[in-house]
Amino acid sequence: MKAPEPRARSAPFDAVVVGAGPAGASAALCMAQRGASVLLLERGATAGSKSMFGGMLPYCPAAERLVPGFWDEAPWERHVVRRSLSLIGEGTSTTMSFEADSFDSPPYAGVTVFRPLFDRWLAEQACKAGATLLTGVVARELLKDQADRVVGVVVDGPQGQIRAPVVIACDGVLSFLAEQAGLRRAFNTSQMALGVKALFHVGEREINRRFDLVRRQGTTWEFLGVTEGVRGGGFLYTQLETVSAGLVLHLDSLQSRGLAPYEILERFLARPLVAGLLRGARLVEYSAHLLPEGGVQMVPRLSRAGLMIAGDAAALCYTNGLIQEGMNLAMTSGLLAGETALEALGTNDTGGDSLASYDDRLKESFVLRDMATYGRAPEMMRNERLYSVYPTLVGQILQRMYASDGNPRPSVRAIARQELKGQGSLPRLARDLWEGVRAI
Ligand SMILES: Cc1cc2nc3c(=O)[nH]c(=O)nc-3n(C[C@H](O)[C@H](O)[C@H](O)COP(=O)(O)OP(=O)(O)OC[C@H]3O[C@@H](n4cnc5c(N)ncnc54)[C@H](O)[C@@H]3O)c2cc1C
Repeated sequence: MKAPEPRARSAPFDAVVVGAGPAGASAALCMAQRGASVLLLERGATAGSKSMFGGMLPYCPAAERLVPGFWDEAPWERHVVRRSLSLIGEGTSTTMSFEADSFDSPPYAGVTVFRPLFDRWLAEQACKAGATLLTGVVARELLKDQADRVVGVVVDGPQGQIRAPVVIACDGVLSFLAEQAGLRRAFNTSQMALGVKALFHVGEREINRRFDLVRRQGTTWEFLGVTEGVRGGGFLYTQLETVSAGLVLHLDSLQSRGLAPYEILERFLARPLVAGLLRGARLVEYSAHLLPEGGVQMVPRLSRAGLMIAGDAAALCYTNGLIQEGMNLAMTSGLLAGETALEALGTNDTGGDSLASYDDRLKESFVLRDMATYGRAPEMMRNERLYSVYPTLVGQILQRMYASDGNPRPSVRAIARQELKGQGSLPRLARDLWEGVRAI
């Protein structure tokens, strides 16, 4: 794509990008690479200092487009070769693990990253390409002209008003800027989850030994049935030297149960399976962050005159129960917003119609297509039985299958029928199964 033509500048920057997370750094990098003057604003002391996630960055074509040689250059931790899911029932634990030979060689299906390092590195790439990064600066509100068109931002501090023909709001899940612009209302608690996590230093060799890994192989491990009746799940991710152990808890469910997130986290960490893997490890930090979980129904309008929103600010994040996608969508939407801005600047038209092509680009890309494919998943994941009844049921069936007490052994079918009767009706299970299949 062409760099914008030199033009008479009434503003010091072609674009202001708010938030130096993966969405914002990608937008700024894309624009700076093509000659635009971009200001990247970050409220944290450094890019990444406020960032937290699980987490795994899945294979991300936008990353390669932004940084040729991305997989050799970027500071990722381990490539993921194994993905496990444990269903924790009352006194039982059922674990399924998936491995593929292809996960062990580039291009990797996914890599774990430590966000403070990764986000800082990505923002540095934007700066190397010519963007200006201002940290420790909070964008408070949008500047609008008389025609109600966004023409910049107001920041705390001496900079005051910063004008630019395009603003890209990548200010994360609580995006006040998107709300102020009238693009979205405040998200409600039924659309949000709270992530809480403890980071442990275990050491590279010990991680390899405990998780049965070699070289820089890594693993992700999800848990159902560990959230004390709150809808949500647990996770373990291996970084190079550290292990992330945490929970994702649906906010409305957490509120209605009246439990404190850290209590549920402590109980998760004390479970024998988890405690064994973390024995003797040094706790480095606790962190917490919200994430959008409402799926495609939660995605608002994405642009208006002078403004686009990307990443979590636009709720471009989803889970289908097996995978959590956010980083890839943030980087891709940042890149597409940057490309749209370049095109609009090139024609000297950053009005609503011109920037609306960003919405179309996202609709055509995998970002909104994938979110539409898994559009039923949020509803499926509101089913309370997923988090308590079914993990226990699976454990009970398997326990009776494997147990031997000298009596004649019933058929697996008979065991399943008896256990199902105890846990609820067969038609309800069939309905849940059907909903589950339709959702994924
Ligand atoms: C517990 C948890 C686990 C997750 N696991 C995964 C995973 O395994 N894989 C995955 O792909 N995704 C995962 N996600 C989702 C992923 O982290 C997000 O989708 C992604 O970080 C979104 O990037 P972003 O740039 O849009 O927003 P953010 O990463 O939130 O970045 C926003 C940036 O804007 C800054 N900012 C905010 N407001 C202002 C302001 N007013 N002025 C200046 N700066 C501002 C913030 O400080 C921050 O740096 C997880 C999220 C959580 C919470």
